[in-house]
Amino acid sequence: MADDGKKRRPINRQDHKTPMPEQAPEARILNYKEVPLGYTPEMAMNEATRCLQCKKAPCRTGCPVDIDIPAALDLIAEGDFAGGYRKMRETNFLPAICGRVCPQEDQCESMCVLGKKNEPVAIGRLERFVADWAMQHEDSEAGAEMPVCKPATGKKVAVIGSGPASLTAASDLVQLGHEVHVFEALHKPGGVLFYGIPEFRLPKATLVKEIDGLAKIGVTFHMNYVVGATETLSELRERFDAVFIGTGAGLPWFLGIPGENLNGVYSSNEFLTRVNLMGAYKFPESDTPVKPGSRVVVVGAGNTAMDSARTAKRLQPEHVTLVYRRSRAEMPARVEEIHHAEEEGIEFKLLHTPVEIFGDEKGNVTSVKLQKMELGEPDASGRRRPLPIEGSEFVVEADCVVVALGNGPNPLLTRVEPELELSRRGTIAVDEETLESSMKGVFAGGDIVTGGATVILAMGAGRQAARSIQRYLTTGSAAF
Ligand code: FAD
Ligand code: SF4
Ligand code: SF4
Repeated sequence: MADDGKKRRPINRQDHKTPMPEQAPEARILNYKEVPLGYTPEMAMNEATRCLQCKKAPCRTGCPVDIDIPAALDLIAEGDFAGGYRKMRETNFLPAICGRVCPQEDQCESMCVLGKKNEPVAIGRLERFVADWAMQHEDSEAGAEMPVCKPATGKKVAVIGSGPASLTAASDLVQLGHEVHVFEALHKPGGVLFYGIPEFRLPKATLVKEIDGLAKIGVTFHMNYVVGATETLSELRERFDAVFIGTGAGLPWFLGIPGENLNGVYSSNEFLTRVNLMGAYKFPESDTPVKPGSRVVVVGAGNTAMDSARTAKRLQPEHVTLVYRRSRAEMPARVEEIHHAEEEGIEFKLLHTPVEIFGDEKGNVTSVKLQKMELGEPDASGRRRPLPIEGSEFVVEADCVVVALGNGPNPLLTRVEPELELSRRGTIAVDEETLESSMKGVFAGGDIVTGGATVILAMGAGRQAARSIQRYLTTGSAAF
């Protein structure tokens, strides 16, 4: 506990998180609106007073952007929401997004001392609350406040991609006084935040508002600009003093089984992009609806699989089944997403794997052959290896199959740049401390370096790269 002589308000000894109201499952599967509805001011203050204001604040070590969590929670507990928002914004310029999609249970909240015996403080929910409060109070001092940029340095930085890694790098660099240009292949900025994570988890309006803030402080966005096609990295490098690459991991992995090229078999990327980016979620008014048919099979058990299954459910087929080759304990998705998927009536077929997809004479998918699995010894990842049970195959009907097995690095930019060193996995090789690549003045971070990870880790990498770029621009070397 803090020992600063300040008179402390009473601690709320409630052993569980203050519940957050949600749309009921039977109502929400008929719409795309956000599922958790957010705290009221009273709920937020109640939850924030659970915080013990620990002096060493272990929760901070679980946050990759090192938000001063106890200070922010202290302000919220006092009802100073503008102050709480400012405190969060000091190190995180996307609080409304992180409060919603960060895997808090593995990060800040996993380190909270209250979690040893009871439920940790709901840090993510409180972060979302203050960010939403500030957006709803745009006329207030805190809501309208913009970061102040340093005087112009005359240096120009190119940022490739517009996912969380790039947005963070762009934000930090523009505030240091550099001229920042973002080049994005798609027609909307945000990366996975826009085209991957569905509306019911991250409303587009929230995302647009947080990104608009960047344009307001001087970042220039160039959309429909594919570096590696429109212009090469080397060409771009010549026009700019430094470059940051945050192109993410957008190349879908497939099962490699017969029938994967049938009509109605989608990668999760294609399925979610059609719905999120092309507006098919505005069913039936959309010009590009996806037709899920009556039986959807989703393969995988990460966040992408949960998002695909829950998105499919909202297109109102008769049945959505999620097939995963390991057991529940190994499912990589966030606990909250698994819980929401189950509540929404998605059937989990655990310890099963697809071995073949069948179609009709027109090439449309009709069914999937599944095989039962059992768990053997742990593999290199530490998870128990799934082993097929011979003779256990059976066929289920399906008119839509979504393969959500994860993604590898997108080769569009890297394959035309021989100077850029890659790892064996095809990710960009960088110096661990500076994030500088094999090309001088070219830095990289986020999923294009780590492979598929999390929003907040990508943001942390964007910040780390921005610091190195600043050193590079001011001293001629990124090294410490
Ligand atoms: P991305 O967000 O992938 O952005 C890369 C951007 O670069 C894209 O906009 C792409 O179009 C652009 N680009 C690529 N190549 C080029 C090029 N050559 N020229 C110009 N632009 C280019 N993480 C969480 O923390 N919580 C979650 O709940 C969560 N859910 C997820 C759900 C789904 C469906 C998916 C796919 C991922 C999810 N993740 C989640 C992971 C998280 O979204 C990623 O780790 C994060 O977005 C990576 O950020 P990034 O900036 O590295 O790249
Ligand atoms: Fe926790 Fe993520 Fe917020 Fe950091 S940014 S405090 S990890 S929810
Ligand atoms: Fe508060 Fe938990 Fe952080 Fe302690 S560890 S300061 S109780 S949020």
